[in-house]
Amino acid sequence: AAAAAAPPRLILDLEALHHLDAGEAGPLTRYAATIQAQRGDYNGKVLSIRQDDMRTLAVIYDESPTTLTERFISWGVLNPEAKGDVEDAAE
Ligand code: C2E
Ligand code: C2E
Ligand code: C2E
Repeated sequence: AAAAAAPPRLILDLEALHHLDAGEAGPLTRYAATIQAQRGDYNGKVLSIRQDDMRTLAVIYDESPTTLTERFISWGVLNPEAKGDVEDAAE
């Protein structure tokens, strides 16, 4: 894997998230709420998450991290700069 020096941060738009259909967005909504609770961070309109969290979410959604990143961007809940940030496991 290429060693990217400073990958763009993964930033969730919490307001956009809460306007999405609960069916598809539910797991992501619950995951973000858990991180907010763990940090005690309830005031933000955005939430920066870990690279590892996208890998965990990919397992939850049964998608590759790359596909899931693109899906979240298309939903408008993840910053477009995150595209290509989360690498899939080696093939
Ligand atoms: P922890 O992983 O043991 O982290 C303890 C504290 O170290 C965090 O307290 C935070 O002040 C700091 N810290 C750890 N990693 C980072 C980082 O990448 N950036 C910054 N700015 N600070 C960092 P905090 O925020 O109160 O979080 C408490 C616990 O909640 C964390 O303990 C972790 O278990 C969980 N947590 C918080 N945010 C996340 C997250 O984004 N993803 C996951 N998987 N767990 C999280
Ligand atoms: P940024 O990463 O583009 O974040 C812009 C603003 O979004 C932040 O302004 C903050 O108000 C909000 N924000 C981002 N992530 C979170 C989050 O997880 N929770 C909450 N509640 N709010 C969030 P702020 O704090 O004035 O920071 C301005 C800029 O300073 C940030 O732009 C970033 O480039 C840098 N910065 C701030 N804190 C850190 C940090 O812990 N680590 C790094 N590497 N940069 C930081
Ligand atoms: P950040 O604070 O700018 O951290 C950038 C990267 O530096 C993190 O990427 C992680 O690789 C490393 N890093 C920073 N602090 C710590 C630390 O205490 N322990 C470890 N093991 N690594 C650290 P990562 O993990 O992808 O996180 C991306 C962003 O998500 C962080 O940017 C921060 O804004 C947020 N974040 C992640 N975990 C926590 C947390 O536990 N608490 C808070 N408040 N924010 C977190």
